[in-house]
Amino acid sequence: MTTEETIELFEKYVIGNYPRLHRVIVRGEGCYMYDAEGNKILDMFPGWAVSGIGHCHPKVVEAIRKQAGELLHIDNTFYSEPQGKLAKLLSDRAFGGKSFFCNSGAEANEGALKLARLHTSEEKYKFITAEGSFHGRTFATLTATGQPKHHEGFLPLLPGFIYIPFNDVEALQSHFDDEVAAVLLEPIQGEGGINIATPEFLAAIRRLCDEKGALMILDEVQTGMGRTGKWFGYQHFDVVPDIITMAKALGGGMAIGAMMANDEVSASMVPGKHASTFGGNAIACAAAVAVIEAIEEEHLLENAVAIGDYTKEQLEQLQDKHRVIDHIRGVGLMQGIQLNKPGKEIVNQCLEKGLRINCTKETVLRFMPPMIATREQIDEAISILDSVLSEDEK
Ligand SMILES: *Cc1c(COP(=O)(O)O)cnc(C)c1O
Repeated sequence: MTTEETIELFEKYVIGNYPRLHRVIVRGEGCYMYDAEGNKILDMFPGWAVSGIGHCHPKVVEAIRKQAGELLHIDNTFYSEPQGKLAKLLSDRAFGGKSFFCNSGAEANEGALKLARLHTSEEKYKFITAEGSFHGRTFATLTATGQPKHHEGFLPLLPGFIYIPFNDVEALQSHFDDEVAAVLLEPIQGEGGINIATPEFLAAIRRLCDEKGALMILDEVQTGMGRTGKWFGYQHFDVVPDIITMAKALGGGMAIGAMMANDEVSASMVPGKHASTFGGNAIACAAAVAVIEAIEEEHLLENAVAIGDYTKEQLEQLQDKHRVIDHIRGVGLMQGIQLNKPGKEIVNQCLEKGLRINCTKETVLRFMPPMIATREQIDEAISILDSVLSEDEK
């Protein structure tokens, strides 16, 4: 099919909730994707951070092929090997907890919010989240999302959600009453513009949760699975949360989400309280097992650190050259370029020149290369961005 034919199908039959670019992508390989016109695009934001180890990683593709020949799906009436294996691999790389599997980040956060309500005393129904956060689009996770623009048209939302400024310890303390069931927070805000939590803020959340009998939930949907150079974002800090949620890069391109809770908390999710038909799907779990194995066999955490540092250095050099860049902030392969003007046009111009990046919060360019990226690919990306910024300044 031609680009025009595919787009016509969308115009007639697909709900228009996404602002799409006029391009059909037909193939992905490593750090590159290819459109229907044969253009090759260097992808520094693959799959909205889903393809964390690149497009179509051969080990993931092979695991999916193998699993597909044995069992596509079995419901949770039974046990299945890939789900059990994946739960152990995740537990060993986090804080030794138990997992509940689902299909997306929002669903993982829904599970976490429900579990917090189940586990804490009945009077506790409130949740503290941060301004600028993003936790998903279902009603509870939309409510948790501290961005009024996402709430428009959906009022009234769920009761009990309190928004505090990110990293504001005083606001946290003043809102932390006995009715708070949990604090839900991204250790590094993604959609909110790559904002990094301070160690003091996370320590205060931990301390207050312990004092008040509330739970600390960290949303690792974007920061998890090696994105920051450690398995999970919280591991950069001296805290251990009660619950973490993950999705995006977990399945290497397959739809899967997970919520992991420590042993004591997870015991509150007894039969009948929560479920997901596709949760723990055999293919999705086999893919996620392969993602973890590939990250370890190919030393991709180490690469994320090295390439992340390199990317940041290179971006800082661009900052010296271009006045439109205010500053660079980020950890590992999660780098934000704070501009002093809107970045949408820059993103579009980059794509025209074969580079895909993202813009969030209007003025923050997001650079989120996959963990397999090489220095040469970063150089290629930086040089395209450099030329676009130069032209933009003319
Ligand atoms: C993307 C994202 C979500 C939502 O994930 P979906 O799979 O789209 O439901 C939740 N939290 C964070 C931090 C995210 O980046």
